[in-house]
Amino acid sequence: MRTFIILAGLIYTIPCEAEKLPSKAKNVILFLADAGGLGAVNAASIHGYDKAQSLFVQSWPNIGLSDTSTASQWVSDSAAGMSAIMTGQKTHNGVISMGPDTARGKQDGARLKTLLMYAEEHGLSTGVMTNVNVADATPAACYSNANDRRKYGEIIQQAFAPKYGDGPDVLMGIGRAAIDKSLAEQGSSLDALSQKHGRKVYASLSDVPSSEPRPVVIQEKDMNLPAAAEQALERLSRNKKGYFLMIEWDAHTDNPQQGLGNLVAFDKLIRSIAGKVNMKETLLIFTADHSFDISTKGGKRGEPLLAGYEEWKQKNAAQRNAVVEIPALRVNHNHTGEEVVVAAMGPGADKVHGFLPNTRIFEVMLEAYGWKR
Ligand SMILES: [Zn+2]
Repeated sequence: MRTFIILAGLIYTIPCEAEKLPSKAKNVILFLADAGGLGAVNAASIHGYDKAQSLFVQSWPNIGLSDTSTASQWVSDSAAGMSAIMTGQKTHNGVISMGPDTARGKQDGARLKTLLMYAEEHGLSTGVMTNVNVADATPAACYSNANDRRKYGEIIQQAFAPKYGDGPDVLMGIGRAAIDKSLAEQGSSLDALSQKHGRKVYASLSDVPSSEPRPVVIQEKDMNLPAAAEQALERLSRNKKGYFLMIEWDAHTDNPQQGLGNLVAFDKLIRSIAGKVNMKETLLIFTADHSFDISTKGGKRGEPLLAGYEEWKQKNAAQRNAVVEIPALRVNHNHTGEEVVVAAMGPGADKVHGFLPNTRIFEVMLEAYGWKR
């Protein structure tokens, strides 16, 4: 028996109890909405569809609530949040996949093995893509270890000189000038890295030839994630052993127009990917590294959630970080510590339920592949 979900003209079939999924996943795709907590998810659905619970990820069968607190603080940044998801261990803010014995910026702690490193070790293909700096905290926590998230140069070098396998096979994001500046402080550059490791670093997604099996794309700005995801999946899915892919889409809602729009667009990308991959062998997980202080405090059906925002912007143009106050929304410019939603679909997804620590997401993915720590 199957349950049919009809969304925007596309039909998805989610197998029911009677039709058991294989217990093991060949592929895992982690969709990370940066700062996309429950407040943002709720508002994005209303913003996009004038209706609650209309995002594709809100139709998934398995839901949990993930605690994002760090090893020392209640409110997480992207570094500690993503490190916990990728390594199964909580650490401190600012630290990239190193243990809680790390002193940020001063002293390395234990270098933690990330899920991407496990995947490389097992001979899978791996990919990391984002529409922010590809050496910034969320993508960095997948493929590197560093005692401070600001060490872009040290971080990006690890993508070219990995400890496990041959490192991320697909790496796509932005931040070219900032990364080059950080590399220059170490007497290096993207060009030098590229030469040394015989791996081209494309400055634009559109420069990648179809013959390139392992594309590294670092643009200055504006990464087209749907186009990047298509390029990535086409290459990663060639590996018969399977793949791991992390896609980050920034969902900070300091500017709610932009942030909520991002979340709706990300959800559309997730829907499109779910329609293309083999869902019998692919575990999909959607979550956030930490929450954000956005709440729906008013508004009604048929009225845009962002009504009044343009006027608010004009009045408050000079004031940086002023609290956004419009009839339906209030946005403070800070991360918050309440649980974020983790939604899952595919083999191994049934392990996602109830309240859980963010470190459990790592275990769910590792167990779905059938691996042990
Ligand atoms: Zn974040």
